[in-house]
Formats: sequence, C-alpha cells, structure tokens
Amino acid sequence: MTISTRSSSPASTPTGLPEVVGHDTLVPCLDGVERPYVNLDNAATTPALREVAETVERFGSWYSSVHRGTGYKSRLSTGAYEQARRIVGDFVGVDWDAQTVIFTQHTTDSVNRLARRFPLENSDLVLSTVMEHHANLLPWSQKDQVVHVGLEAGGRGPGIDLDGVRSAFEEYGGRIRLLAVTGASNVTGCMTPIHELARLAHRNGALIFVDGAQLVPHRPVDLLSSDDPAHIDFMAFSGHKMYAPYGTGVLVGPRSIFGTGTPAVLGGGAVDAVRLDEVLWTDLPEREEAGSPNVVGAVALAKACRVLDACGMDRIARHERELTAHMLERLREVPGLRLVGGEDPDPERDRVAVFAFTMDGYEHGELAAILGFEYGIAVRNGCFCAHPYIRILAEVSEEEDRSMWERIQRGERTDMPGFVRASAGCYTAAEHVDALADALLRIAEQGPQSTYQVDPATGDHLPGDYRPTFEDRFRI
Ligand code: PMP
Repeated sequence: MTISTRSSSPASTPTGLPEVVGHDTLVPCLDGVERPYVNLDNAATTPALREVAETVERFGSWYSSVHRGTGYKSRLSTGAYEQARRIVGDFVGVDWDAQTVIFTQHTTDSVNRLARRFPLENSDLVLSTVMEHHANLLPWSQKDQVVHVGLEAGGRGPGIDLDGVRSAFEEYGGRIRLLAVTGASNVTGCMTPIHELARLAHRNGALIFVDGAQLVPHRPVDLLSSDDPAHIDFMAFSGHKMYAPYGTGVLVGPRSIFGTGTPAVLGGGAVDAVRLDEVLWTDLPEREEAGSPNVVGAVALAKACRVLDACGMDRIARHERELTAHMLERLREVPGLRLVGGEDPDPERDRVAVFAFTMDGYEHGELAAILGFEYGIAVRNGCFCAHPYIRILAEVSEEEDRSMWERIQRGERTDMPGFVRASAGCYTAAEHVDALADALLRIAEQGPQSTYQVDPATGDHLPGDYRPTFEDRFRI
C-alpha cells in the first residue's frame, strides 16, 4: 500500500482507511485565514470514527440502564453492553476461560484498580521501567515496592534495557511478582517486546502487565492463550485513544485474581447480598464494576474495534510504518530539528507513529503554539506525563532538575524541559505530515508571525493579541 498523496484538503482520509468525524473542519488562524485542521495530537486523544459516532447516535434511541431492568430497552442495553465486552476482548485476543474484561474509565483508572487489586506481600516487588507514562508509574510507586529498570544504550534509550530486566530478575530472586511495562511509548513511539518480556517474567515466577494505551490502537495485539509462556496476563487501554472518545477504558486480567478478595471499587452492582457488617461479592465481571457502567462508551469502543478489525490492524500498521518513514524523511529536511531518541531511528525496529523533537532557537511551548495559532496544526508539547523518561531523554542534569523543582514549588512553570510531539492516527495522511514539515521549514526560515508571551503560572505561550473566541464555533 502506498501513502495517499491526493491534492485535496490536507485533512482528507487516506483511501480505504477509516474516516473520523471532523476531518475536514476549518479553524481560524492568527492571520484571519481559516485553515483545515491538521490533527497530529492523536497520542493524546483521537477523534471519533464516523461509524462510531453514528452507532452512538443510533444507540441513543435504545439506551437504558443495564442489568436487572425489566424494560425492553434495559434488556437490549444489557445485551449490547455484554456484546461490547466480547467484541473488545476478542479484539485483543482475551483468553475467556482464564481472563476477564473489566470496563473502566480509562487506562489511568485501569492501572489504579490493578495496583489496588494486585496481591503483594511485604517483601514482594513490582518491576517497572523509567519510560512509563505516569499512569503506569504513580500507582506502583505509591506502594514503595517497585524497582525501575533503566534504558538501553547505556541508559540513554530510547527503549528498555532488556539486559537490565534480566539482571533485575536475577538480583531480586523470586521477589518480583509483576512486571509492569508500556507496550509503546507515548513520547518516542518506541515499542516494547512484550511477548519476550512475558516469557521472561513467567520463567521467573512473575506476571506481566502491559500498558496498551499507545499499542492497541496501532498494532494487532494478541494476548495469547494463558498456557502459552508468552501470554500477557494484564492489559489496559483507553477508548478515547482508539477513536471512541466516549469515556471507556479497559482492564483485562486473570479471573483468578479479580475473582477473589475485595473489589477495587465498592458499591451497587458488585454484590449478591449485603448485611451491615458483611457482604457477598458477585461474580466477575460485575464484581469489579460497581456503579452504573458507561454503556454508551462500551458500545462505542466495541464499534471502534469492529471498524479497525474490518479494515485490518495489519493494514493500519503498514500505513503507519509508511507514514513514519515519510515523517522521518521530511523532518530531516528541517534545519535545526532534532528527533528525540535518535536522528535516524533503526528502520529494522518497529515503532508507533509518535515523534518528539526540538528545534534550535525555539522553546518547545513556543514552537507548538506557533504551529497551532499560525498554521492550524495540532501538536502537543511538554513532558507528556512521562517526567522521568523526559528527564533522561532531555539530558536534564541533577542541578537543572533541582532548580526546576524549586521553581515549580514557587508556582513558576516557565523554561521547563520538554519536546514538541507530533503523533499520527490511522486516518493520518501524507499531506498531514507535509503540512507539518512545510510549516516547520517556514518557521525555521522566516520565524513566527506574532510575538508570543509566556504565562508564568501555566507555562503556556500565547500570541500578544490573542483573544479566544470559541462561542461562535460551538455552544452547549
Ligand atoms: N499510558 C500511556 C502510554 C499513555 O500514552 C496514556 C495517555 N497519554 C496513558 C497511559 C493514560 O491514558 P488515559 O489518559 O486514557 O488514562
């Protein structure tokens, strides 16, 4: 498959790949011109697939409370909710005999729940890495029973030091109960060999959790059968990062763990019988889904899985690889631009289409603001909720780190380390990449059109004459 290079709006969808809502929206830029919105912030969140939005609209007429409602719509909604669970689980190859699928709010919620539920004795440890998103860092580090493995290439990265993982298993003997790793980095796109790590974890008597937030939307995922040494025990991902932004996340894990002990969230729906001083917890998955579930979100996510499946995750992965090659080629043209994690990432090594970079002469916040305000190109800047990883990649010294820490405590958020990040989705076309590269080339040659001021409290860069006017575009 070749990348579409149609000359129409840069916001058009590559032929044959799923279409998202709002791909042709025009947004106002500082010079007064309306430009097609170029969304390269898909690692943060994705727009809804057209078919997902249509399904949500259709389901609206049938939506009602699930479980135990006797009305027709309630019964229909219960059926749809449970069907959604099946579809979403099958999408990642859940082993239904051994695993359960719990609907959550998002990946962060999933990891927090897992950290509450994972059985750890006093001397037990969780092994994780320094490249994790805060969602897979803070829930474990609060427990004080976590060891972090560093990065490859003498600690410089971008990937996990696999020898370090092996050494940690040797050093800590049988104490490591869980290996908690990201499937793909939201900063560098670097992918983790999750099945190799699963084999290693299982060989050493540990289980494996994979943060799939950046992996599941971009690559075919198969958790594998639970009797396969390379299987994945736990996985989390978010609907809003895979074209179903209606507030649902997923936590997959062994029935044996979630089916015993006290659930992570307590309340109605999780019980069979309650006395004032005693409770009988119900069966999975309801046991771990106290409260009224987000049925619309689950249906939307299931529809997204269906659409992605119909298109073919292999095909989406192929498209993203071609897009990555094009992005790397185009970004190399921009003077003073430095890609994080290597100027020329290894073509033999797969990565998801996430690109962090810096450009000489520009603070990351300013560059991101120029792209957004002057070109209608959406990127993100900062530390992307992965502060320890960014500190390593940005080579922040201990002294700089201390000074930054003190400034933040004083409420000053200027001059923070960080990068600009562009990230693609399945609907991203070569034109989007070209729009970014052309804008960067122009900025490198001509500079910005406006002067940007930094708000010290937020670190945001705003053009001097900026007056937000959203109400004429959208009102609730
Ligand atoms: N893990 C990774 C790798 C992510 O990129 C993100 C979102 N940026 C999360 C976890 C958290 O996802 P959510 O905000 O949906 O909880």
